[in-house]
Amino acid sequence: MNDTATMRAIVTHGPHDYRFERVPKPIAGPGEVVIQTGAVGICGSDVKCFTGASLFWGDGNSGGYVEGPVITGHEFAGVVESLGEGSAEKFGIELGDNVIAEQILPCGMCRYCLEGSYWMCEPNEIFGFKRGRAEGGMAEFALLPSNALVHKIDPRLSEIESAYLEPLSCAIHAVDRAEIMPGDIVVIAGVGSIGLCMLQWAKQFRPGILVAVGTRPNRLDLASALGADIVINAREQDPVAAVRGYSSGYGADIVIEASGSADGPQQVLEMVRKMGTVVAFSSIKERTRIDWNLVGDQKELTIRGSHLGPCCYPKAIKAVADGRIDVASLVTALYPLEDFDLAMQAAMSGNGIKTMVVPGMEGRRGEI
Ligand SMILES: [Zn+2]
Ligand SMILES: [Zn+2]
Repeated sequence: MNDTATMRAIVTHGPHDYRFERVPKPIAGPGEVVIQTGAVGICGSDVKCFTGASLFWGDGNSGGYVEGPVITGHEFAGVVESLGEGSAEKFGIELGDNVIAEQILPCGMCRYCLEGSYWMCEPNEIFGFKRGRAEGGMAEFALLPSNALVHKIDPRLSEIESAYLEPLSCAIHAVDRAEIMPGDIVVIAGVGSIGLCMLQWAKQFRPGILVAVGTRPNRLDLASALGADIVINAREQDPVAAVRGYSSGYGADIVIEASGSADGPQQVLEMVRKMGTVVAFSSIKERTRIDWNLVGDQKELTIRGSHLGPCCYPKAIKAVADGRIDVASLVTALYPLEDFDLAMQAAMSGNGIKTMVVPGMEGRRGEI
């Protein structure tokens, strides 16, 4: 195989075994697109997969989600490098456009796809986890298969902002699920890379008080800068008592759970007022315990789940282009492809906010 037909990629072989390899460069078949990857974010789920969570690798009783070896990465965007037959017309794109595909590759045949709820597609195939069908974007080039949902990105967005559209879309969907009314007391529980996007999107619905709960001072400072009226450090203050204090003792109208912590779910049930709404967003490694009585008998709550970012990519693109949402300041470290291990270490440390890999920045490295 000659050099022009290969590319450099990060391939998942197993927990703690992601290799920097040379692999065949993808070729765009009918309805497919090949992009030159601009930037790729490392997601909390990538960290869980890297560290061997049973959801991804199985637990001895059931198989895991990963079908490898597979190129990792689902938070990516890039410039159209080649177009298969019919894909320019299908997606309304041309060579050189900056584009993004939604993270899910819907099967188009299951009951959810047929009902229009493509984000709940039964096989749930996400880029970066399924060999040959959903190869990821942590590489110089990436294949967008014919069932991808491709969006053209406003040219005002940078490479980094473009890669951030995936987590931003997830944040937008979760906040939209909350149906915030002007004047509501809204709590975003968790100020990670997605919580800080939720906060900015929630602000647009003119809540009465917008509260951010977290544990890391640097992230809480950023939450204040990005629009939180009140920030609560859960290591220094009881967040339930604090939220009650800001709401005449009742609790918040809406709480969005984005902490990723095993204690998060019970805390948000205590923090929300009677007849309030809770949006369940975060994915939690451990099994969690909640007091079920709070949901029905005591508070008559509305609990809504939130999965992926359906129908939110165009909104996300517009919000970043208009300057209504700032994602650039949430990116705290960039690494070239060959330093993937360092990038993963940075993501695992939790010291920064969002770590990204930029395949085109070979030889340059380090924190922003
Ligand atoms: Zn993700
Ligand atoms: Zn489906």
